[in-house]
Amino acid sequence: MLVMKLGGASVKDAASVRNVVEILLNYNQQPCIVIISAMHKTTNELETLAKLAADGKESRAIEQFERIKNFHLEIVDDLFGTETQAISNILDAYFVEIQRLVEGILLLGEFPALMYDRIVAFGELISTRIVAAYVDWITQKCLWLDARDFIKTDMQYGRAKVIWTITGENIEQKLKPQLAAGKIVITQGFIAATLQGKTTTLGREGSDFSAAIFAYCLNAEKMIVWKDVPGVMNADPKLRPDAVKMDKLSYEQAVEMTFYGATVIHPKTIQPLYTKKIPLYVKSFNNREAEGTCISAEADDKKTPIYISKPNQIVLKITPTDFSFMDEEQVQYVYNKITFCGLKANMSQISAISLYLCFDDKASLLKDIEAELLDRFKIESQSGFTLSTVINFTDADKPSANFAPMVQFVGNKMCVVK
Ligand code: ASP
Ligand code: MG
Repeated sequence: MLVMKLGGASVKDAASVRNVVEILLNYNQQPCIVIISAMHKTTNELETLAKLAADGKESRAIEQFERIKNFHLEIVDDLFGTETQAISNILDAYFVEIQRLVEGILLLGEFPALMYDRIVAFGELISTRIVAAYVDWITQKCLWLDARDFIKTDMQYGRAKVIWTITGENIEQKLKPQLAAGKIVITQGFIAATLQGKTTTLGREGSDFSAAIFAYCLNAEKMIVWKDVPGVMNADPKLRPDAVKMDKLSYEQAVEMTFYGATVIHPKTIQPLYTKKIPLYVKSFNNREAEGTCISAEADDKKTPIYISKPNQIVLKITPTDFSFMDEEQVQYVYNKITFCGLKANMSQISAISLYLCFDDKASLLKDIEAELLDRFKIESQSGFTLSTVINFTDADKPSANFAPMVQFVGNKMCVVK
């Protein structure tokens, strides 16, 4: 059993969709399911559409809607030529639904998370419909399935939590019997549904996680993520031109990398794969034969330094107003409040009377934390930092004497906020 995931860049235009067929035909000798994201940046475009409607910018919302529609219809025309009838009927129905949602948002003047999920889900629905129709047209052996029939979640729209037991049963009982060698089964990443059937999403860039959910529940032999890069790089080539591709990485290294800001795979992807020891291959769709990177229980024995940087960080220094020690009880109190605010620190350090926390800088973060803590603590904040992490660091990577508000060495890992 094989699970493959294709992201937005791998289906960004008609030529990429044609390339996808080649990939799928190469790998369908065994039962296989293919998880696909929205085409190119469609999720962002749908977000913009919802925002324009919520702000009452009706004519701009209509323009944006037309743009999204035409982008997809041009790909359809290119792929199917004069044979567009079947796919057009399906897409037309989707576009009518999107239009209704936009009208609803215009009336409301806002979009509740529930409506956000319904609208952005169309990115994946449209994309998989187009790809599946095209693959079936070429191969006559493609099946399109709705991921919402299998992946069930709670009602936290926008960042829904998977209900693993029911999802597992659905996949085992309803999906598995439909998979067979020679067949190409296509479904959506990112989207799921509540037990009542309402559309939810798993968080931005969540398609990798969707694929991992399928891989876990199907006890897949392996999972392959197709990307526009040769594999997992040891640094962002835009920041370090000497970046190299890693041949292999351990699950642990991969989790550390994604936690500290590497965007090559979604942070939640590794855990389900690790639990079942399913190897994850990251491969380039531009160079299908190349080896890519294998993430498994086996570590990279070359100890290649890995550089990750997470910009836009804010550092808070939290000090009890009565000058008492920042002891376990105080730290626990602060953490409870932070959890209550739905926030997660990227790094923390404790000194005698202060707790230093580093967060992704979000608009309401400081206000939310202050509302919970100002009765007992003084809060000083400074923003505009980058969290730089080096795994397998060497002396050369250590910060010079320059002031950095937070520096941490843990095992083979160094984190600097500067
Ligand atoms: N299309 C979704 C997003 O852009 C999910 C994904 O690409 O993984 O966030
Ligand atoms: Mg994406």
